[in-house]
Amino acid sequence: MGFVKTLLPVGDALARILERVEALPTERVKLADAAGRVNAAAVVSPVDVPPFQSSSMDGYAVRAADLPGVFTIVGRAAAGRPATMAVGAREAIEISTGAVVPEGADTVVPVERVEVRLDEVTILDSAPLRDNIRGAGGDAPVGSNLLAAGELLTPARLGALAACGIESVVVHRRPHVTVVVTGTELRPPGETLEPGQIYESNGVMLAALMGAAGATVVRLAATEDTEEAHAASLEEALASDVVVTSGGVSVGPHDLVRHVQARLGVEEVFWGVAMRPGKPLAFGCRGKTLVFGLPGNPVSALVGCLLFVRPALLALTGHPDPAPPFRPGTLVAAVPQRPERDDFVRARVTWSEEGALVEPIIGQESHMIARTTAADSLVWIPRGPDVLAAGSSVRFLSL
Ligand code: AMP
Ligand code: MG
Repeated sequence: MGFVKTLLPVGDALARILERVEALPTERVKLADAAGRVNAAAVVSPVDVPPFQSSSMDGYAVRAADLPGVFTIVGRAAAGRPATMAVGAREAIEISTGAVVPEGADTVVPVERVEVRLDEVTILDSAPLRDNIRGAGGDAPVGSNLLAAGELLTPARLGALAACGIESVVVHRRPHVTVVVTGTELRPPGETLEPGQIYESNGVMLAALMGAAGATVVRLAATEDTEEAHAASLEEALASDVVVTSGGVSVGPHDLVRHVQARLGVEEVFWGVAMRPGKPLAFGCRGKTLVFGLPGNPVSALVGCLLFVRPALLALTGHPDPAPPFRPGTLVAAVPQRPERDDFVRARVTWSEEGALVEPIIGQESHMIARTTAADSLVWIPRGPDVLAAGSSVRFLSL
């Protein structure tokens, strides 16, 4: 385990991770628990939607052939009631939106276009057949395809499934992630710092990011920089689908994570990515468990999690397109490039008629997590010999 000889390009590192990921087994969940998850099995409508021919307006159900004319109002049809009477010649039934269109009627004239006197309604215009009538199955006929496997369960799609009377869906189960933050110097927020200590900030940040990506996250208490403490935490964490560590993954004398993981049977797939921040990122597997070693500097941990862990979590949940959704934008200030590493620069995006304008924030060092409060995006500055000038096209990822 010498120091990084060849740094893996960012895209290659992601590919090496995704090739180790298999979508997790499926489970059936209620629609209320399915928001944001990935549908895992094709869904067809078990019923006609709408289930019956209904009115799309408040108005009068009549025979189109009798129009125009004066009609006798013979009844009312309200939503939620079965149709009890039929419409005969020169008869009208007052009907509300969503009510069953009565037998005999073949058009609905909106209330705004009629004149009512006692039990008579006068309609001065003719109307086409089936006007303002929703056909049974006109939205989704029984047996029609609603969703394919791999489609995201958006709010609109959940509404569609509910409209078809479906109460549950099959999804890939959520990944169980355990977060292990390492460092003897770490204290939880709320406690008083002793000399040499700092507040532990990666745990809450990584848990929030991964929770939003669909994972169930457990955080262990900060692990001291001893082999025994690392072994205990990592062994516990390795029971999960995914282990994410922070810190202790570089080349210092107290960087124990890779060493202890190797002892516990984690096969290292790679270590070292051609990026800044976050170069000494490690990825390995033990059985089906994916093991990510993120650097301890908070911005490095954040970037590594966004670029590599989040896509892996999405792939575990069956997401069809797990890669980070970078979008195009234009740099508003020059940014120096590095010859060997891509730079991920915190920035603020504003929108103009030409699209996104991306402005790097001041303070790009990898410990400067407090500065990221000013940022909403991460800009990908590809490695290069020189400077990326203002006006250059770039790609950015929302934070
Ligand atoms: P390491 O990767 O362990 O060498 O840590 C790099 C830097 O990040 C050091 O300054 C650590 O104190 C800091 N650091 C490590 N873990 C955390 C954490 N969980 N929260 C905040 N800072 C951390
Ligand atoms: Mg450390």
